[in-house]
Amino acid sequence: MIIEMGTTATAKQIEMVTREIKAVGLDFQINEGRERTIIAVLGADIKKTFDPQKFKALPGVEDIIPISKPYKLASRDFKSEDTVIKIGGIEIGGKDVVLMAGPCSVEGESQIFRCAEVVKKAGGKILRGGAFKPRTSPYSFRGLKEQGLHFLRRAADQFGLLVVTEIMSVGSIKLVADYADILQVGARNMQNYDLLEALNSCKKPVLLKRGPSAEIEEWFCAADYILNGSDTPNVILCERGMKTFERSTRYTLDIAAVPVAKRLSHLPIVIDPSHAAGNFRYVPALAKAAIAAGADGIIVEIHPEPKRALSDGAQSLTFSDFARLSEELKVIASAIGRDM
Ligand code: PEP
Ligand code: MN
Repeated sequence: MIIEMGTTATAKQIEMVTREIKAVGLDFQINEGRERTIIAVLGADIKKTFDPQKFKALPGVEDIIPISKPYKLASRDFKSEDTVIKIGGIEIGGKDVVLMAGPCSVEGESQIFRCAEVVKKAGGKILRGGAFKPRTSPYSFRGLKEQGLHFLRRAADQFGLLVVTEIMSVGSIKLVADYADILQVGARNMQNYDLLEALNSCKKPVLLKRGPSAEIEEWFCAADYILNGSDTPNVILCERGMKTFERSTRYTLDIAAVPVAKRLSHLPIVIDPSHAAGNFRYVPALAKAAIAAGADGIIVEIHPEPKRALSDGAQSLTFSDFARLSEELKVIASAIGRDM
Protein backbone atom coordinates (compact mmCIF):
# COMPACT_ATOMS: atom_id res chain seq x y z
CA MET A 1 0.00 0.00 0.00
CA ILE A 2 1.26 3.48 -0.85
CA ILE A 3 0.09 6.61 0.95
CA GLU A 4 0.52 9.65 -1.22
CA MET A 5 0.70 12.82 0.85
CA GLY A 6 -0.53 16.11 -0.60
CA THR A 7 2.03 18.56 -1.97
CA THR A 8 1.40 20.88 0.98
CA ALA A 9 1.38 18.20 3.71
CA THR A 10 3.29 19.26 6.81
CA ALA A 11 5.88 17.29 8.79
CA LYS A 12 3.34 17.01 11.61
CA GLN A 13 0.73 15.47 9.30
CA ILE A 14 3.28 12.98 7.99
CA GLU A 15 4.21 12.05 11.51
CA MET A 16 0.59 11.50 12.42
CA VAL A 17 0.19 9.09 9.50
CA THR A 18 3.28 7.11 10.48
CA ARG A 19 2.08 6.94 14.08
CA GLU A 20 -1.23 5.49 12.91
CA ILE A 21 0.60 2.91 10.78
CA LYS A 22 2.60 1.80 13.81
CA ALA A 23 -0.55 1.74 15.92
CA VAL A 24 -2.07 -0.95 13.68
CA GLY A 25 1.11 -3.02 13.91
CA LEU A 26 2.51 -2.24 10.46
CA ASP A 27 5.79 -0.81 9.26
CA PHE A 28 6.56 1.99 6.85
CA GLN A 29 9.24 3.56 4.74
CA ILE A 30 9.25 7.17 3.59
CA ASN A 31 10.32 8.63 0.28
CA GLU A 32 10.62 12.39 0.34
CA GLY A 33 10.19 13.18 -3.33
CA ARG A 34 10.75 16.52 -5.01
CA GLU A 35 7.03 17.28 -5.05
CA ARG A 36 5.49 15.17 -2.34
CA THR A 37 6.15 12.61 0.35
CA ILE A 38 5.26 9.00 -0.34
CA ILE A 39 4.84 6.50 2.48
CA ALA A 40 5.03 2.78 1.74
CA VAL A 41 3.07 0.70 4.24
CA LEU A 42 4.76 -2.65 4.81
CA GLY A 43 3.87 -5.80 6.66
CA ALA A 44 2.53 -9.30 6.24
CA ASP A 45 -0.84 -8.45 7.83
CA ILE A 46 -1.57 -5.44 5.69
CA LYS A 47 -4.81 -6.81 4.22
CA LYS A 48 -6.18 -7.54 7.67
CA THR A 49 -5.14 -4.44 9.58
CA PHE A 50 -4.88 -1.57 7.10
CA ASP A 51 -8.13 0.32 6.54
CA PRO A 52 -7.67 2.59 3.50
CA GLN A 53 -10.77 4.66 4.29
CA LYS A 54 -9.47 5.53 7.75
CA PHE A 55 -6.08 6.62 6.38
CA LYS A 56 -7.59 8.56 3.51
CA ALA A 57 -9.44 10.70 6.04
CA LEU A 58 -6.24 11.75 7.84
CA PRO A 59 -5.17 15.37 7.29
CA GLY A 60 -2.58 15.84 4.54
CA VAL A 61 -3.29 12.50 2.83
CA GLU A 62 -4.01 12.84 -0.88
CA ASP A 63 -4.51 9.25 -1.97
CA ILE A 64 -4.10 5.60 -1.01
CA ILE A 65 -2.77 3.40 -3.80
CA PRO A 66 -2.65 -0.37 -3.47
CA ILE A 67 0.51 -1.97 -4.92
CA SER A 68 -0.19 -5.43 -6.21
CA LYS A 69 3.48 -6.20 -6.92
CA PRO A 70 5.32 -8.29 -4.33
CA TYR A 71 8.14 -5.72 -4.21
CA LYS A 72 7.43 -2.16 -3.08
CA LEU A 73 10.54 -0.16 -2.23
CA ALA A 74 12.36 -0.93 -5.48
CA SER A 75 9.34 0.14 -7.51
CA ARG A 76 8.62 3.36 -9.37
CA ASP A 77 5.29 3.51 -7.53
CA PHE A 78 7.19 4.23 -4.35
CA LYS A 79 9.80 6.52 -5.90
CA SER A 80 9.12 8.04 -9.28
CA GLU A 81 12.46 9.83 -9.63
CA ASP A 82 15.61 7.94 -10.69
CA THR A 83 17.87 7.02 -7.81
CA VAL A 84 21.37 8.38 -8.17
CA ILE A 85 23.85 6.69 -5.85
CA LYS A 86 26.67 9.00 -4.80
CA ILE A 87 29.90 7.50 -3.51
CA GLY A 88 33.20 9.30 -3.18
CA GLY A 89 32.47 11.90 -5.84
CA ILE A 90 31.04 9.36 -8.29
CA GLU A 91 27.39 9.10 -9.28
CA ILE A 92 25.77 5.88 -10.44
CA GLY A 93 22.40 6.32 -12.13
CA GLY A 94 23.00 9.91 -13.24
CA LYS A 95 24.16 11.32 -16.57
CA ASP A 96 27.52 9.55 -16.49
CA VAL A 97 27.92 5.97 -17.62
CA VAL A 98 30.18 4.31 -15.05
CA LEU A 99 32.90 1.90 -16.10
CA MET A 100 33.84 -0.75 -13.54
CA ALA A 101 36.55 -3.27 -14.35
CA GLY A 102 39.16 -5.55 -12.88
CA PRO A 103 40.05 -9.20 -12.63
CA CYS A 104 37.59 -11.91 -11.67
CA SER A 105 39.78 -12.72 -8.65
CA VAL A 106 42.47 -10.75 -6.90
CA GLU A 107 45.41 -13.11 -7.42
CA GLY A 108 48.27 -11.06 -6.04
CA GLU A 109 49.58 -7.57 -5.43
CA SER A 110 51.21 -6.91 -8.79
CA GLN A 111 48.26 -8.35 -10.79
CA ILE A 112 45.70 -6.05 -9.12
CA PHE A 113 47.95 -2.98 -9.26
CA ARG A 114 48.49 -3.52 -13.00
CA CYS A 115 44.73 -3.86 -13.51
CA ALA A 116 44.02 -0.73 -11.47
CA GLU A 117 46.40 1.32 -13.58
CA VAL A 118 44.71 0.17 -16.79
CA VAL A 119 41.21 0.79 -15.41
CA LYS A 120 42.15 4.34 -14.45
CA LYS A 121 43.76 5.02 -17.82
CA ALA A 122 40.64 3.83 -19.64
CA GLY A 123 38.47 6.28 -17.68
CA GLY A 124 37.14 3.62 -15.30
CA LYS A 125 35.94 4.74 -11.89
CA ILE A 126 35.57 1.51 -9.97
CA LEU A 127 37.97 -1.41 -9.54
CA ARG A 128 36.43 -4.87 -9.25
CA GLY A 129 38.11 -8.02 -7.95
CA GLY A 130 36.94 -10.99 -5.92
CA ALA A 131 38.64 -11.85 -2.66
CA PHE A 132 35.93 -14.25 -1.49
CA LYS A 133 35.08 -16.34 -4.55
CA PRO A 134 31.98 -18.50 -4.92
CA ARG A 135 33.22 -21.43 -7.05
CA THR A 136 31.18 -24.27 -8.44
CA SER A 137 33.87 -26.78 -7.47
CA PRO A 138 35.24 -26.58 -3.94
CA TYR A 139 38.67 -27.49 -5.37
CA SER A 140 38.94 -24.35 -7.53
CA PHE A 141 40.77 -21.20 -6.39
CA ARG A 142 38.50 -19.54 -3.84
CA GLY A 143 40.22 -16.20 -3.38
CA LEU A 144 42.89 -14.60 -1.20
CA LYS A 145 40.29 -13.56 1.39
CA GLU A 146 41.42 -10.67 3.63
CA GLN A 147 44.81 -10.39 1.97
CA GLY A 148 43.01 -9.96 -1.35
CA LEU A 149 40.83 -7.19 0.12
CA HIS A 150 43.95 -5.47 1.35
CA PHE A 151 45.66 -5.56 -2.09
CA LEU A 152 42.46 -4.43 -3.78
CA ARG A 153 42.01 -1.43 -1.49
CA ARG A 154 45.62 -0.35 -1.83
CA ALA A 155 45.56 -0.66 -5.62
CA ALA A 156 42.32 1.34 -5.85
CA ASP A 157 43.65 4.06 -3.54
CA GLN A 158 46.88 4.32 -5.47
CA PHE A 159 44.97 5.12 -8.67
CA GLY A 160 42.01 7.03 -7.21
CA LEU A 161 39.41 4.34 -7.85
CA LEU A 162 36.55 2.95 -5.78
CA VAL A 163 36.30 -0.75 -4.88
CA VAL A 164 33.52 -3.25 -5.58
CA THR A 165 33.96 -6.78 -4.27
CA GLU A 166 31.80 -9.76 -3.46
CA ILE A 167 30.31 -10.49 -0.07
CA MET A 168 29.34 -14.13 0.49
CA SER A 169 28.25 -14.41 4.11
CA VAL A 170 26.62 -12.47 6.92
CA GLY A 171 29.66 -13.12 9.08
CA SER A 172 32.05 -11.32 6.74
CA ILE A 173 29.99 -8.15 6.12
CA LYS A 174 31.97 -6.08 8.57
CA LEU A 175 35.33 -7.21 7.22
CA VAL A 176 34.42 -6.66 3.56
CA ALA A 177 32.71 -3.33 4.29
CA ASP A 178 35.90 -2.12 5.97
CA TYR A 179 37.72 -2.42 2.63
CA ALA A 180 35.06 -1.94 -0.05
CA ASP A 181 32.99 1.01 -1.27
CA ILE A 182 30.34 -1.21 -2.89
CA LEU A 183 29.43 -4.74 -1.79
CA GLN A 184 28.57 -7.17 -4.55
CA VAL A 185 25.95 -9.82 -3.93
CA GLY A 186 26.76 -12.53 -6.44
CA ALA A 187 24.26 -14.24 -8.70
CA ARG A 188 24.33 -17.37 -6.54
CA ASN A 189 23.38 -15.37 -3.46
CA MET A 190 20.53 -13.32 -4.91
CA GLN A 191 18.08 -15.36 -2.87
CA ASN A 192 20.18 -15.68 0.27
CA TYR A 193 17.62 -13.76 2.29
CA ASP A 194 19.60 -13.74 5.53
CA LEU A 195 22.50 -12.08 3.71
CA LEU A 196 20.23 -9.57 1.92
CA GLU A 197 18.50 -8.63 5.15
CA ALA A 198 21.79 -8.25 7.02
CA LEU A 199 22.94 -5.81 4.33
CA ASN A 200 20.09 -3.40 5.04
CA SER A 201 21.81 -2.03 8.09
CA CYS A 202 25.17 -1.74 6.34
CA LYS A 203 25.72 1.79 5.09
CA LYS A 204 27.51 0.72 1.91
CA PRO A 205 25.76 0.51 -1.47
CA VAL A 206 25.08 -3.01 -2.75
CA LEU A 207 25.55 -4.24 -6.34
CA LEU A 208 22.84 -6.88 -6.58
CA LYS A 209 23.41 -9.40 -9.33
CA ARG A 210 20.40 -11.10 -10.85
CA GLY A 211 20.36 -14.86 -10.27
CA PRO A 212 20.84 -16.83 -13.51
CA SER A 213 17.39 -18.37 -13.14
CA ALA A 214 15.61 -15.46 -11.48
CA GLU A 215 12.72 -13.54 -12.96
CA ILE A 216 13.02 -9.76 -12.90
CA GLU A 217 10.26 -9.66 -10.29
CA GLU A 218 12.22 -12.01 -8.00
CA TRP A 219 15.31 -9.83 -8.46
CA PHE A 220 13.36 -6.73 -7.42
CA CYS A 221 12.00 -8.60 -4.38
CA ALA A 222 15.61 -9.35 -3.44
CA ALA A 223 16.33 -5.62 -3.72
CA ASP A 224 13.44 -4.92 -1.34
CA TYR A 225 15.07 -7.16 1.29
CA ILE A 226 18.09 -4.82 1.22
CA LEU A 227 16.08 -1.60 0.95
CA ASN A 228 13.71 -2.45 3.78
CA GLY A 229 14.95 -0.55 6.80
CA SER A 230 17.84 1.18 5.10
CA ASP A 231 17.75 5.01 5.16
CA THR A 232 18.90 5.42 1.55
CA PRO A 233 17.96 3.51 -1.61
CA ASN A 234 21.44 2.15 -2.10
CA VAL A 235 21.01 -0.83 -4.43
CA ILE A 236 22.53 -1.04 -7.91
CA LEU A 237 20.93 -3.74 -10.06
CA CYS A 238 23.24 -5.88 -12.19
CA GLU A 239 22.13 -8.13 -15.06
CA ARG A 240 24.75 -10.82 -15.79
CA GLY A 241 23.02 -13.34 -18.02
CA MET A 242 20.39 -16.01 -17.56
CA LYS A 243 20.35 -19.77 -17.93
CA THR A 244 18.68 -20.67 -21.20
CA PHE A 245 18.91 -23.58 -23.62
CA GLU A 246 21.65 -21.79 -25.62
CA ARG A 247 25.14 -23.26 -25.18
CA SER A 248 27.31 -21.08 -27.42
CA THR A 249 27.55 -18.45 -24.69
CA ARG A 250 27.95 -19.15 -20.96
CA TYR A 251 24.61 -17.48 -20.17
CA THR A 252 22.18 -15.40 -22.26
CA LEU A 253 22.40 -11.68 -21.61
CA ASP A 254 18.91 -10.29 -21.03
CA ILE A 255 19.38 -6.88 -22.58
CA ALA A 256 15.65 -6.22 -22.22
CA ALA A 257 16.21 -6.19 -18.47
CA VAL A 258 17.57 -2.65 -18.92
CA PRO A 259 14.42 -0.97 -20.27
CA VAL A 260 12.22 -3.16 -18.04
CA ALA A 261 14.18 -2.17 -14.93
CA LYS A 262 14.14 1.48 -15.99
CA ARG A 263 10.35 1.41 -16.31
CA LEU A 264 9.48 -0.56 -13.21
CA SER A 265 12.22 0.54 -10.82
CA HIS A 266 13.99 3.76 -9.83
CA LEU A 267 17.25 1.91 -9.09
CA PRO A 268 20.34 2.22 -11.31
CA ILE A 269 21.17 -0.79 -13.48
CA VAL A 270 24.53 -1.98 -14.76
CA ILE A 271 25.39 -4.85 -17.10
CA ASP A 272 28.05 -7.50 -16.63
CA PRO A 273 28.84 -8.65 -20.18
CA SER A 274 31.71 -10.91 -19.03
CA HIS A 275 29.80 -13.56 -17.09
CA ALA A 276 26.98 -13.43 -19.65
CA ALA A 277 29.31 -14.14 -22.58
CA GLY A 278 31.81 -16.47 -20.93
CA ASN A 279 34.06 -15.75 -23.91
CA PHE A 280 36.20 -12.62 -24.32
CA ARG A 281 35.30 -12.42 -28.04
CA TYR A 282 31.68 -11.57 -27.31
CA VAL A 283 32.23 -9.20 -24.39
CA PRO A 284 32.74 -5.95 -26.40
CA ALA A 285 29.51 -6.37 -28.40
CA LEU A 286 27.46 -7.03 -25.27
CA ALA A 287 29.06 -4.11 -23.44
CA LYS A 288 28.27 -1.75 -26.30
CA ALA A 289 24.70 -3.04 -26.54
CA ALA A 290 24.30 -2.44 -22.79
CA ILE A 291 25.27 1.22 -23.01
CA ALA A 292 23.15 1.74 -26.13
CA ALA A 293 20.18 0.19 -24.30
CA GLY A 294 20.49 2.72 -21.46
CA ALA A 295 22.45 0.89 -18.77
CA ASP A 296 24.04 3.15 -16.15
CA GLY A 297 27.33 1.32 -16.34
CA ILE A 298 29.11 -1.91 -17.07
CA ILE A 299 31.29 -4.19 -14.98
CA VAL A 300 33.92 -6.03 -17.01
CA GLU A 301 36.57 -8.63 -16.24
CA ILE A 302 40.13 -7.94 -17.39
CA HIS A 303 43.44 -9.68 -16.71
CA PRO A 304 47.11 -8.99 -17.52
CA GLU A 305 47.40 -12.55 -18.86
CA PRO A 306 43.93 -14.04 -19.31
CA LYS A 307 45.33 -17.47 -20.19
CA ARG A 308 46.95 -17.71 -16.76
CA ALA A 309 43.98 -16.38 -14.76
CA LEU A 310 42.98 -18.43 -11.73
CA SER A 311 39.29 -17.85 -12.52
CA ASP A 312 37.24 -16.77 -15.54
CA GLY A 313 40.24 -16.29 -17.85
CA ALA A 314 38.21 -17.29 -20.92
CA GLN A 315 35.94 -14.27 -20.53
CA SER A 316 38.60 -11.77 -19.39
CA LEU A 317 39.72 -9.03 -21.75
CA THR A 318 43.38 -8.28 -22.32
CA PHE A 319 44.48 -4.75 -21.44
CA SER A 320 44.63 -3.71 -25.10
CA ASP A 321 41.16 -5.10 -25.89
CA PHE A 322 39.82 -3.33 -22.83
CA ALA A 323 41.42 0.00 -23.79
CA ARG A 324 39.87 -0.28 -27.27
CA LEU A 325 36.47 -1.14 -25.83
CA SER A 326 36.51 1.83 -23.46
CA GLU A 327 37.07 4.19 -26.42
CA GLU A 328 34.13 2.64 -28.29
CA LEU A 329 31.90 2.89 -25.22
CA LYS A 330 32.62 6.62 -24.93
CA VAL A 331 31.38 7.14 -28.49
CA ILE A 332 28.16 5.24 -27.77
CA ALA A 333 27.60 7.06 -24.48
CA SER A 334 27.96 10.42 -26.17
CA ALA A 335 25.64 9.35 -29.03
CA ILE A 336 22.83 8.84 -26.50
CA GLY A 337 23.55 12.05 -24.62
CA ARG A 338 25.57 10.61 -21.76
CA ASP A 339 29.12 11.13 -20.56
CA MET A 340 31.72 8.54 -19.75
C1 PEP B 1 32.05 -12.49 -10.34
O1 PEP B 1 31.68 -11.31 -10.42
O2 PEP B 1 33.23 -12.86 -10.50
C2 PEP B 1 31.00 -13.53 -10.14
C3 PEP B 1 31.27 -14.67 -9.51
O3 PEP B 1 29.83 -13.17 -10.70
P1 PEP B 1 28.38 -13.89 -10.70
O4 PEP B 1 27.93 -13.86 -9.29
O5 PEP B 1 27.59 -13.04 -11.63
O6 PEP B 1 28.58 -15.29 -11.24
MN1 MN C 1 34.17 -13.94 -12.52
